[in-house]
Amino acid sequence: MQDGNGLRGDLYFTFFSIFLYLFKMIDLHTHSIFSDGELIPFELIRRAEATGYTALAITDHVDVSNIDHIIPRITNAVNALPAVTSLKVLPGAEITHAPPELISDLVKEARKLGAKIVVVHGETIVEPVKKGTNRAGIEAGADILAHPGLITTEDLLLAKERNVLLEITSRKNHSLANGYVAQEAIRFGAPLCINTDSHGPSDFITAAFAREILLAAGIEKTRIDTVFDNSKALIETTLRRT
Ligand SMILES: [Zn+2]
Ligand SMILES: [Zn+2]
Repeated sequence: MQDGNGLRGDLYFTFFSIFLYLFKMIDLHTHSIFSDGELIPFELIRRAEATGYTALAITDHVDVSNIDHIIPRITNAVNALPAVTSLKVLPGAEITHAPPELISDLVKEARKLGAKIVVVHGETIVEPVKKGTNRAGIEAGADILAHPGLITTEDLLLAKERNVLLEITSRKNHSLANGYVAQEAIRFGAPLCINTDSHGPSDFITAAFAREILLAAGIEKTRIDTVFDNSKALIETTLRRT
């Protein structure tokens, strides 16, 4: 139909498509088969690319037993990618259920082994993560504190001071605390990011859906770009570090 409304509809669709093309997903927390994910790195990367990602970090679960096994293998896959690609891929790690006393050394070890994005598995309300993990992750200088659950004000302020990104997640169960994390981070000025914590092909999301998750967490429309800007800034910092 080419009446007035149809034309406006077409124009709207064109602008919307351009917007989606320009605005792509950044996801700095995903898992491959090297921990409990379903995909080998290349398939994970390809599926992220096909979902319209612009940047991806592969951050498998690590502790002292497997950190030196996993990070070099993820790095091998990333280094083998062609230099020119539409998707920036970063090797990383998620330090998971480590005693808080060991987290600082594990963050250092992860970076030494080549992890560009270091995530700490925070105090989600759906797992018995040891109290003190949020604080230890922030003090250790992790890049991202994943699913920090009912994070305390002291930890929020420290995350703000150290510029550790607090995660809003699309992952089922961990996402139950999204509203609290968003509200408190905004109240105290701590930086947020959004990730999927993908473990399989159905977990990837588009940037448009990521925006909806942020809105649903109670974040005002005008603040949403800042969340993605924080992830972009982290990638730039990471690349400068090397
Ligand atoms: Zn986690
Ligand atoms: Zn994870």
